[in-house]
Amino acid sequence: MWYNMSANQRIRTNPPNQGSEYSAESGILNERILLLVFESIKWDLQVLCLTASVNRKLRAIANRILWRNLCASRAPRMVAALANGVPDGRISGGWHALAKLMFFCCGCESTRHFKLSRPSPGHFVKASRFSKTSGQSFLSKKCRGDLLYVSDPCEHPMGDKEDDLGIYRGVFQGFMRSRTMACLIRRQVELEEQVRCSYCGARVWSMSTARLVPKSAARRLGSHDGGIEYFVCVNGHLYGSCWLLPLSSDEDEREGTRRDGGDDDHDVGSDDPDGYRRCD
Ligand SMILES: [Zn+2]
Ligand SMILES: [Zn+2]
Repeated sequence: MWYNMSANQRIRTNPPNQGSEYSAESGILNERILLLVFESIKWDLQVLCLTASVNRKLRAIANRILWRNLCASRAPRMVAALANGVPDGRISGGWHALAKLMFFCCGCESTRHFKLSRPSPGHFVKASRFSKTSGQSFLSKKCRGDLLYVSDPCEHPMGDKEDDLGIYRGVFQGFMRSRTMACLIRRQVELEEQVRCSYCGARVWSMSTARLVPKSAARRLGSHDGGIEYFVCVNGHLYGSCWLLPLSSDEDEREGTRRDGGDDDHDVGSDDPDGYRRCD
């Protein structure tokens, strides 16, 4: 395959002295060919990561079209909703940040409002489920008109002495015009000094500091009230942690606890595109 070529071979595919009609659109730099190649390999995440790191031209193409298409191939309805009304299809923070959010659990370190005995590292995830029903649980009453997708918590065991850690992530549609953003501005909540968004590197608000964590968020995650913290960045990415209560069989059945599926879930997987549960 082309992405396994040696450095010498790679240079030969695009020699510096070729005519412009050849060099601009040749081989792997032809966007239509790239799209076909990625469709044929079902938008393989690792190949896309490699492609985007080959050189500046391929990174630019990835940022413009490939990351978006990868996201759309895995969660078409969520991506259509996020792109709705966005000029030129450019979402806040970029499609590469959204792709990272969809396929990478960022782990957790101690923060001002959430203390850990040790950090829990981030990792790629094979499948996640993003739900706007879940997202509603993370919005205070006045902000319920916002559209927010949030994943199920990724469970990180912390040993016998502690509960499991739940790490989750999400994204707002049109955050700049959202009620949540307006509320943060109106309350003059300061951006965190030390923390940067795990997905786009932008500055973040702590929703605990803003006192904008509704009780429904802990209920949704299966955590206890107060054992939860999340951040929202200026581009509308959300991520955070909570302590997961051990589930009894009763709780497992209870509506609104974790592992409870909404009717609007968007599965994001990386290895079995045909096996996704879709509820379109
Ligand atoms: Zn995780
Ligand atoms: Zn961000």
